[in-house]
Amino acid sequence: MKSTCLISFHDASPIFQSEMEEASACLQNLGITHISLLVIPCYHYQTKLSEHPNFLMQLKKMEAQGAEIIHHGWSHLDDRPQYNFWYRIRTQGEGEFSSLSESEALHRLQLGRTLFTENDIHPRGFIAPAWLMSDGTKAAIKQLEFGYYEDSLHIHDLTNSRRLFAPLIGYTQRKRLHRQLCLTANPLLARLFPYFSITRFAIHPADVRDKTTWRQMQRVLACLKTNVEFKTYSDVIDPLRARNDSV
Ligand SMILES: [Zn+2]
Repeated sequence: MKSTCLISFHDASPIFQSEMEEASACLQNLGITHISLLVIPCYHYQTKLSEHPNFLMQLKKMEAQGAEIIHHGWSHLDDRPQYNFWYRIRTQGEGEFSSLSESEALHRLQLGRTLFTENDIHPRGFIAPAWLMSDGTKAAIKQLEFGYYEDSLHIHDLTNSRRLFAPLIGYTQRKRLHRQLCLTANPLLARLFPYFSITRFAIHPADVRDKTTWRQMQRVLACLKTNVEFKTYSDVIDPLRARNDSV
């Protein structure tokens, strides 16, 4: 049986619509439509989903073709950015949920959920910006009964009370050295993907804008196609739920 790879397009929002559409078209050319779209409800407190009907239409079109929409922060922006090494490796001030209390996280998640619901979008999962999450955020996610969330190593399947190990490949465009390291290491790491039952492949808008990176990502995915099956998070979680229900 082929192993599973989850492809995520991060930071889907109206200001990155052209990158999202380019990524989607290229993936479709590779025969891949079951991808996950990590949607920011109100990017940087300025770009609200509901004010961009064309973007909403595109989201729904991709959803109808097999994509899954995932709740990805409220504004994505961290009001209290940290300056420790680990935080700075992960992000430059975009770890919105990294230090929120439970009530603060709950408030932002509810704002996002309301906006999604008003636009007939119903994400089952939550993924925090830069995968940085406070304990308060984890408690709020459970309170709002999300089906799953993830961190940099695992998918936390709350529907089936399981934690699934899922190695992740991502690129960065923030520093030239880091970008080069990713371009060197990631094709080698991707060769290991078929040996794991679940893996993850993250695409950010900046990766699509950088033509060298984007060409490499497409080559890596084209090679992986023969050995892995590309699925959404719900594709992974639902069969487990069906099995549990029948026990
Ligand atoms: Zn993000």
